[in-house]
Amino acid sequence: MRAIDIHAHHEPKNFQRAVAAGETWHGLTADSDEADIDPMEEWTPEQRIADMDSLGVDVQVVSTSSAFYMYDREPAVTLAIAGECNDEVHQLTLDYPDRFKGFATLPMQDIPAAIAELDRAVNQLGLVGAMIDDKVNNVTYDHPRFLPFWQAAEQMGALLFVHQNDPTVVDARTESWHLSNTVGNLTDRALTFGSLVFGGVMDKCPDLKICLAHGGGYTCFGIGRMDRGWQVRSDVRANISQPPSAYLRRFYYDCLTHSEPALRMLIDTVGVDRVVLGTDWPANMRIDWPVSWVLGLPSLTQDEKEAILWKNLEKLLGIQ
Ligand SMILES: [Zn+2]
Repeated sequence: MRAIDIHAHHEPKNFQRAVAAGETWHGLTADSDEADIDPMEEWTPEQRIADMDSLGVDVQVVSTSSAFYMYDREPAVTLAIAGECNDEVHQLTLDYPDRFKGFATLPMQDIPAAIAELDRAVNQLGLVGAMIDDKVNNVTYDHPRFLPFWQAAEQMGALLFVHQNDPTVVDARTESWHLSNTVGNLTDRALTFGSLVFGGVMDKCPDLKICLAHGGGYTCFGIGRMDRGWQVRSDVRANISQPPSAYLRRFYYDCLTHSEPALRMLIDTVGVDRVVLGTDWPANMRIDWPVSWVLGLPSLTQDEKEAILWKNLEKLLGIQ
């Protein structure tokens, strides 16, 4: 059985080396990575591959940790950070072409720079697309400033993987109990689905490829209410002539639900051909044994398991 993981992170070695030497990296210090430090983040590529082998994961699509989005910095600083991160991920894909594909990180606060770096990443470095936050300095993706970016990504055939960074929308209410992550990630993802769909982006860019992390969050559970809002309010219909549920199959979703009934609902709502393996390696919120977990789910057929574990991503990313 083959397995391809769309959701696997990488902490830049250049950052780690600078911090270990007591230096700063583009103004960042050890405290700049606010995520829980996991020793796995410091593993060599060889250790990483050994762990993939133990998990049964053949290919990871590697993304730089969201802690390095840095959308609130000077665009030139963010671009310098992104450039080094993307070069590192590129090197992984060069050194181990059968084991790693890569996502870029981009200076999303400067759309022309983000488009240029995405172009470099996809067309020069061979990365498959980019991982982006659910918002850019609190602006959601229905804002017209982002339209040239969607159009450029669509034209390049780049896959955009949407994945939050702190703070999520939940932080405004509470910072307790890890709800910022366990509820916030899922809330942010539903907001992103709603912003892109109601904002008309998916109509303006019919071939845009977007994968929503964490199973798309609360999107599937909440789609009936979004449809009802579209039905009863004319302002909600301003940009789209179909209900939001008609757009569910325009997105891909990773399987990272930590719940079999939730994954079953996702499959039944969006279609199994839109669901892909995502593990969140090496974060502590990852699926511990992702391939075993999927294979052991009694409510999934063998065909569904194969589609999720590798067939869908092999097709989407052109991996042979
Ligand atoms: Zn993640």
